[in-house]
Amino acid sequence: MENILSTVDISKSYGPLKALNNLTFEVPKCAIFGILGPNGSGKTTTLGILLDVLKQDSGQYTWFNNQADAHYRKRIGTLLETPNFYHYLSAYDNLKITQAISGRGNKNDIDTALETVRLQSRKNDKFSTYSLGMKQRLAVAAALLGNPEVLVLDEPTNGLDPVGIVEIRTLIKELGQQGKTIIMASHLLDEVEKVCTHFCILKQGNLLVNGPVKEILSNEDVIILRAKNLELLKQVLLSVTGYTLLKIENGFCEIHCIANAILPEDLNAHCYNSGVILTHLEVKKKSLEEKFFELTGN
Ligand code: ATP
Repeated sequence: MENILSTVDISKSYGPLKALNNLTFEVPKCAIFGILGPNGSGKTTTLGILLDVLKQDSGQYTWFNNQADAHYRKRIGTLLETPNFYHYLSAYDNLKITQAISGRGNKNDIDTALETVRLQSRKNDKFSTYSLGMKQRLAVAAALLGNPEVLVLDEPTNGLDPVGIVEIRTLIKELGQQGKTIIMASHLLDEVEKVCTHFCILKQGNLLVNGPVKEILSNEDVIILRAKNLELLKQVLLSVTGYTLLKIENGFCEIHCIANAILPEDLNAHCYNSGVILTHLEVKKKSLEEKFFELTGN
């Protein structure tokens, strides 16, 4: 699949503090890519470097599969912090000013962007009368001026009430369905799971995982087994197919697998047929949160 963005070994320090450490990941075209990590993990620094606001100490990145020209930044719409809209002006007039400053797109783009974020019917109302969600939708509209192929959003739902959060998440998904590639930073696992197709996890500037959400956050089963001879049980379990991890822990054998990939009744029969009688058989569902905490070590 074509990549919109590739980074290789990007590192950045602020004095003695290593904010990013050899960051390497790729963003496929049309992905909604989440950069997930707790506060201070390096998300904003990453976005700053990718948008040429900050300079990395080492490493490289390429936009648009190495085919970026001098005007490639016009192909990327950004929302890094809420723009300073004028409270006493309408949405339409605010976007006119944004457009005059950025030089992105033409007059028609303002209506198209307002249509996309569903503010067209309120476009002549003053910004001060908008709800938090509407204000943030207007900020997304500003990023959409010039119809960029890529959107980069830093914590787009931060500070919003639950209604506003749903509005913005729905909007991001719709933009993704329309074929835009979206890169967004978030500290919320739930948000990434609900909105993103791909993601990476940052912890203290280190990349922990990277790939499709469905693959990495697929629910896992942990099947816990015991028999008199634990080593023999482990040997017998080695021939089972479909597990992701097999280990002995605290006097039990543990088999980890994608949810329902291995059924306990099949394991029971397999052990019995191999001459091992189980004295314990239990299935534990591993939640996404557990998986996330396991990955981040929090
Ligand atoms: P948050 O969600 O809180 O915005 P983040 O994941 O975006 O966090 P960054 O803002 O990229 O993380 O910060 C990464 C680390 O670099 C943090 O330890 C932060 O304190 C530090 N840092 C960021 N900017 C600077 C700076 N200008 N000078 C010194 N340290 C900085």
